[in-house]
Amino acid sequence: MTTTRDYYEILGVEKSADADEIKRAYRRLAMKYHPDRNPDDAEAESKFKECAEAYEILSDTEKRAQYDRFGHDAFKGRGAAHHDFSRMDVDDIFSMFNDIFGGGGGGGFGGRGRGGQRVARGYDLETEVSVSLNDVLSGTTREVEFTRLDVCGTCTGTGAKPGTTPETCSTCGGQGKVQQAGLGGMFRMVTACPACRGTGTIVKEKCPDCSGKGRQSKKRKLTVKIPAGIQSGQAIRVQGEGEPPPREQSPRGDGIRGDLHVVVRVEDHDLFEREGDHLLMEMPISFTQATLGAEVEVPTLEGQHALQIPKATQYGAMFRVHGEGLPNLRTGRRGDLVIVTKIETPKKLTKKQEQLLREFAETEDHKVNPESHGFWSKIKDALS
Ligand SMILES: [Zn+2]
Ligand SMILES: [Zn+2]
Repeated sequence: MTTTRDYYEILGVEKSADADEIKRAYRRLAMKYHPDRNPDDAEAESKFKECAEAYEILSDTEKRAQYDRFGHDAFKGRGAAHHDFSRMDVDDIFSMFNDIFGGGGGGGFGGRGRGGQRVARGYDLETEVSVSLNDVLSGTTREVEFTRLDVCGTCTGTGAKPGTTPETCSTCGGQGKVQQAGLGGMFRMVTACPACRGTGTIVKEKCPDCSGKGRQSKKRKLTVKIPAGIQSGQAIRVQGEGEPPPREQSPRGDGIRGDLHVVVRVEDHDLFEREGDHLLMEMPISFTQATLGAEVEVPTLEGQHALQIPKATQYGAMFRVHGEGLPNLRTGRRGDLVIVTKIETPKKLTKKQEQLLREFAETEDHKVNPESHGFWSKIKDALS
């Protein structure tokens, strides 16, 4: 059985999302719904599988193009367009795409410990925070809370029931590796010991809190510094706040943790539109201000700024207020505030104003409508 839901909807991305956004969305959801983090939750597991299916299609340019044209029909009766994730083991699905979970693959061997020895590295995690444009201006801090699979406190990660100790594996003598002769004794192959799954120990009595996994879901709170000038979608990497590698890969607890990526979303602002380090604002001015010129007060992120509107300003004219934009993430130099004028036509005129305007119109070569009375004004009143 496979899903019938829209793949973009499943991953929570727009149809126009680029490969990076799709990857990021999948990584976040796969981490969220991973059954290890949601024990005995069938719904989370099916969501996890649904996300994997959506990602398999949308991460493949060709399959994505077919899906965009024909929807789910694109893969009907064609067999192997995507895996049947509902029948697959969660760990297998996870390792299928493990290049996107950081840590050099399935919690694989992604780093080097002291002395240059290769050590296991745990998964990267991702979380999201949102900030305002004012936060982007000044920089800020955010407290983030997330769940990670952490070392079990009850057994300190050994997987053994407290009071018992894991026994040395008799198959490999505690080495975690076994040698096999290959090609008629020409060379020897070293593989992970199948009896202890490479850990070198056998847990006879399992820890009741983690069922022998040595890992437990734990909440973690952190304060993260958000630098001024950050762009929406950029992530802050907090080194070593991801997960420790699974016990099988780090039986002595010597693996290194993955990282936490805090993706920053910048909220929309009522007045300002962001364009890189610049801020754009549409500002209404009256037609007399536009015609005759005026000094106006324009709002900035920090207050107000006086701006000279010259005579004969046209609709859509742009004015730059230097240095009232946002700071550049790297240089700290501030961009500009760009004002785009919008000229407003008065909705109501007093008798005197109308009279003056009519006199003005007479000096021009343009035709204007006569004063509205009777029938047409009634219609207008009814519609207003
Ligand atoms: Zn435990
Ligand atoms: Zn063994």
